[in-house]
Amino acid sequence: MALASGSSGNAYLVEAAGTAVVVDAGASLRSLMAAGERWGLPAERFACLLLTHEHSDHVANAGLFCRRLRMPAAATEGTLQRLNLATDCRSLTPGQTIALAGLAVTAFALPHDGADPVGYLFEHDNVRVVLATDLGHVPPAVVGHLRQADLLILESNHDVGRLWHGPYPWPLKQRVASPVGHLSNYQAAECLASLGDGCPKTVWLAHLSATNNSPRLALRTAKERLQSQGVRNIEIAVALRDRPSLCWDSDLPTGQPQLL
Ligand SMILES: [Zn+2]
Ligand SMILES: [Zn+2]
Repeated sequence: MALASGSSGNAYLVEAAGTAVVVDAGASLRSLMAAGERWGLPAERFACLLLTHEHSDHVANAGLFCRRLRMPAAATEGTLQRLNLATDCRSLTPGQTIALAGLAVTAFALPHDGADPVGYLFEHDNVRVVLATDLGHVPPAVVGHLRQADLLILESNHDVGRLWHGPYPWPLKQRVASPVGHLSNYQAAECLASLGDGCPKTVWLAHLSATNNSPRLALRTAKERLQSQGVRNIEIAVALRDRPSLCWDSDLPTGQPQLL
């Protein structure tokens, strides 16, 4: 479930067998709890807060979530050191798989300008969800993880033209476009086209910039690229920046994301 996705805040809920992991803490506590209730997941069922990296759009409410929901946190050592959270913390090593709330969770390193940023592969009953946002490019090792996804949540941060002609200061434009910045619509579309037909079955374009992108533009770029490649068996939707927007249930046969 996507609760918020963009440069102003990021948070997801991943549920298996009645318990859930909260991924990133960039949504409000009220929005997290309301979305959980709507999906039949009261806050007692939230087992852990998993963090991708220490940038504020991912951790703004990390302390609040852990304190109010009495949750431990898990992240890479570099991320934990930057945050210094006052809760039980579990350190994750990229490449290793751990058991967490009924899920097998594998962190994998991403090229981004945080201390030790990662994406995550979640597995349960042969269903795989992969989250990869905040990456400046897609290295081959990351492609291997993306290819396994039934649901892939992939960054499609900005339109290149809008970024360079837009209002950001020059150093920020350079940071966003750098190999350790954020993935453009074009890069995301190229990545999806390289993965092949029907693999993954469902894609959420995520972490869209409010200034340099729009849901319509991100979707059109991905769809046009996939059509030109002859890729048809893929459902694509856009996770909205500022409110709960998408939900995916592996038990539903269509694989279509549902609007929240
Ligand atoms: Zn970041
Ligand atoms: Zn971010």
